[in-house]
Amino acid sequence: MKLFLSGNEAIAFGLIEAGVRFISAYPGTPSSEVLPTAVKIKQQFGIGGYFEWSVNEKAAFEEATAANFSGLSVAVVMKQVGLNVAMDPYMNTAIVGSIGGFVVVVADDPGPHSSQTEQDSRFLAQFAKIPVLEPSTPKEAYEFAKRAVDLSKKYSLPVMLRTTTRVSHSREDIAVGRIEDVKLKPEFKKNTDRFAATPHFRFLLHKELNNKIRAIKGKPGFRIFYNGNRLLITSGISFAYLCDIVEEFGLHDKVRILKIDMPFPIDELKLQEYVDRYNDVLVIEEGYPVIENQIIDRRRIKGRWNGFVPSEGELTIDVIKGLLRDFGVLEFKENTVAVKPPFKRPSLCPGCGHRSAFFAIREVFKNQAIYTGDIGCYTLGLNLKAVDTVHCMGASVSFAFGFDKAFSIAGDFKYIVATIGDSTFFHSGITPLIDAMHNKSRFILVILDNATTAMTGNQPTPANPFNAAFDGANPISIESTVRSLGVEFLRVRDAYDIEGLKTDLKEAKQYIETHSKPAVLIFRHPCVYTKEGLSLNPAFEDVYVDEAKCTGCKICINRFECPSLLFDEDTKKVTIDLSTCIKCGQCIYSCPYNAIKVKK
Ligand code: SF4
Ligand code: SF4
Repeated sequence: MKLFLSGNEAIAFGLIEAGVRFISAYPGTPSSEVLPTAVKIKQQFGIGGYFEWSVNEKAAFEEATAANFSGLSVAVVMKQVGLNVAMDPYMNTAIVGSIGGFVVVVADDPGPHSSQTEQDSRFLAQFAKIPVLEPSTPKEAYEFAKRAVDLSKKYSLPVMLRTTTRVSHSREDIAVGRIEDVKLKPEFKKNTDRFAATPHFRFLLHKELNNKIRAIKGKPGFRIFYNGNRLLITSGISFAYLCDIVEEFGLHDKVRILKIDMPFPIDELKLQEYVDRYNDVLVIEEGYPVIENQIIDRRRIKGRWNGFVPSEGELTIDVIKGLLRDFGVLEFKENTVAVKPPFKRPSLCPGCGHRSAFFAIREVFKNQAIYTGDIGCYTLGLNLKAVDTVHCMGASVSFAFGFDKAFSIAGDFKYIVATIGDSTFFHSGITPLIDAMHNKSRFILVILDNATTAMTGNQPTPANPFNAAFDGANPISIESTVRSLGVEFLRVRDAYDIEGLKTDLKEAKQYIETHSKPAVLIFRHPCVYTKEGLSLNPAFEDVYVDEAKCTGCKICINRFECPSLLFDEDTKKVTIDLSTCIKCGQCIYSCPYNAIKVKK
């Protein structure tokens, strides 16, 4: 069966074809499409198995590990920063080893396009001493997913499948194999020396892990392409780009490409033997110098360590062309003048309830507060000057706690307003809130509940009454969770009720002035791109700017920042772009001259 699949979709097909029947994941670009594809395959082919969005990557990893210890072939899927969250079980599982196949799918985001870091997960494969396979194309993603399951089964240890944004999101025709149901026979064979190992047994397991890695090293992990006399060592998407350049410029007899399929473990002696045949060698790999580091004698290596290859940013095809020119194997004239599109900063969607919430927060606290933000769409509260910090999942709450304590030990008091989304609250916001409650910290926590994990493609959160397969699930109430921690000041309000939000914020402000506990506000409005959100708009028949009243002050644009509000340079007035406006009417609160009007 031939299908036109993205790299992420291809990974799902490869895993399931190889017998994986338990996949747990947390959404994160560029990895988010693997799990929904697995769910679709399960439904379409009527196979058994369990595929879930977990509350976070650590939980996903541990749940998959237990399923694997029961003999099932499993996979966990996450983006690169998600692996940081899962590091504890990840490192441990490497030492303990696996039973059936265990694949850790990690999608890295060089650029970065939608991440906090450009970290290279292959380093973490090396750190944990597990093999890592790196596909160059969607087809290889499909093949390597199957290969990862087989390798994992053969050596009884987890195998990482590292993909990057371009491989995950590009598409290719792929002939996939038969998807057949497999009879699952879970069985947990007790073995405390392994599954509850004390330090002495950990030492033995570490020895076992080292032996496995030594055995894998002996297998060929690289392939040779082309016949030239200048050596290029590469892997992943860079290989695909290099092949395109070789074809376009006819470099077949100029370069020889050593393609590394498995960047760890590499047989360093064999690699060095190869490198020694050339006067100089260029290493092009997307991410950090993982392959380069494993070359024993790097004196003739041009790569990241000697500054030849840039150490940050994506290695796009244009960057690689420049590297080949500097390496002396490619001549080309820049035949195009790069036309840069005008910079447009990202902003919240028209009608987004988060905008109303940030607007109200800013109206009440102005420059008086420290605003700690979090990971998700609502990072864009930056534009409304209601976010000062964005660090990692859940850090809005822990930062609020930390700032409060830093000021309080000096006898000072600061208003601190933390904002976090519903999914992120469940992922990593609850634990620091427990800390803050227990340790008597005072700040305002605003949970921006849009009833979905919007930024990564509207995956369900634990508060939804449905799961990854849109089957029924037990919804976890955010307010009950917050109350169970002993929070006394809790208000829940529709984020479109801006005046009401301001009242809640003012009361919360007074509360934290006199209480040593956080005040929690849940500002709730469904994402405008969900079924529920779409059903609420248009809220008005028409929204328009009264030209006679508009002074052209741009306060609405600057303070409310809806992308549908446009400034007309000819009339020097604001107009509303009706092609994008969803007629929510929220912008009326932003005009001090009442120039924005709604018609019911
Ligand atoms: S609509 Fe109101 S806020 Fe916007 S530019 Fe006109 S007067 Fe100023
Ligand atoms: S009504 Fe106002 S806030 Fe709502 S989408 Fe249109 S311009 Fe934006």
